[in-house]
Amino acid sequence: MDLNNATSEQLIQLEQSLSEQYQQLQALKLNLDLTRGKPSAEQLSLSNALDGILNGDYISKDGTDTRNYGGLEGIIESREMGATVLDMPIENILAQGSSSLTLMYQLMSTAYFFGLTGKQSAWHLAQEVSVICPVPGYDRHFSICEQLGIKMINVPMTSNGPDMDVVESLIKQDSSIRGMWCVPKYSNPTGVVYSDQTVERIAKLGQIAHKDFRVFWDNAYAIHDLSDNPVSLSSIFSACDQANTQDSVLQFASTSKVTLAGAGVAFLGASETNLKGFKAVLGVQTIGPDKTNQLRHARFFEKPESLKAHMKKHAQIIKPRFDSVLAHLEKEFSNTDLGKWESADGGYFISFDTQKGLAKKVVQLAADAGVKLTPAGATFPYGNDPEDSNIRIAPTVPTVKEVDQAMQIFTLCVKLASVQQRL
Ligand code: PMP
Repeated sequence: MDLNNATSEQLIQLEQSLSEQYQQLQALKLNLDLTRGKPSAEQLSLSNALDGILNGDYISKDGTDTRNYGGLEGIIESREMGATVLDMPIENILAQGSSSLTLMYQLMSTAYFFGLTGKQSAWHLAQEVSVICPVPGYDRHFSICEQLGIKMINVPMTSNGPDMDVVESLIKQDSSIRGMWCVPKYSNPTGVVYSDQTVERIAKLGQIAHKDFRVFWDNAYAIHDLSDNPVSLSSIFSACDQANTQDSVLQFASTSKVTLAGAGVAFLGASETNLKGFKAVLGVQTIGPDKTNQLRHARFFEKPESLKAHMKKHAQIIKPRFDSVLAHLEKEFSNTDLGKWESADGGYFISFDTQKGLAKKVVQLAADAGVKLTPAGATFPYGNDPEDSNIRIAPTVPTVKEVDQAMQIFTLCVKLASVQQRL
């Protein structure tokens, strides 16, 4: 559909025909949901064997009775798992409770209120504190900054990760910058894997940024590949070693989308200095994490290769849903200027950019036809997408048939909104 060269008569006809199709779909009174990135029940069932797995044996391999208090750093088996997922030495890993988001909140608030390297390093001592937010990004990251009163600075995402020219020049010019959010693999929501060069440039930011600057490297989708030959993310830990900037990066991951969402194990990977600063604050908040849950996870993934095999099963369940989304987008929009998207090879999302000023309208049209989408703007700080164009599609929960129906409606809504805008 080449709207740019259509006459007004052609546009009117097209609008009528799309509206008719829309009304027919509306009459089906569907109730479909492409909103939050949650695992489906089928995926969660892959981990049912966690329940009861300890079978009376609560002792971890170093002799710790996991039922009792203590062990702030997490049990050795879980720290080993964190080391595998984050590709870092075990000495740099803490295994904690069930949410990496909580850990990010704790690290950012520790940096803000108490400082990671002593009182003088507390961010709040600065007149203004800003954090770089690659956009579109993860709304819950932005909520943390919003709650702490931290200013957010948007930087556009490219297909190689955040636009590093912009990031570097901001850091050189703006002395209020203390942090940056990153979802380096299968980014939420664009699905992009940061290129080797991007990883290297991020590792070097510690050379030019304020000494208390920290990258929040949220590797939530570190092992969530959909294909057999996934693109690999290069190691930021090694890049920081090379650049001598190990203190500038905090890494996070969890098993929320490996085993049970919100009932798994979360990991922090950080330099010795950062761990020392964080543990001093963490030790006031808790005597230690839930070690029995950690041991359940360790037993569940005891056999070498079991984690990989488990993630393959996830991929088998969700790949057809991603394929359906991509097939609809390609069929309707390849070779048009009605929308842009990245082809995600893992993670939980596909993000779609409409033409400027249409995202809210598309989300509303879809809602009125029974398809719930994440509110337009949610992928930007303060819920404000300046171009009103980004829409996040989360296809894991509905069945393949439902994704297929929902995408028929979604693509129709994009076309209808684009035509109506020109009339
Ligand atoms: N980070 C990202 C990028 C996510 O997409 C999500 C879940 N949607 C989380 C963190 C939440 O992780 P957790 O369950 O470990 O708190």
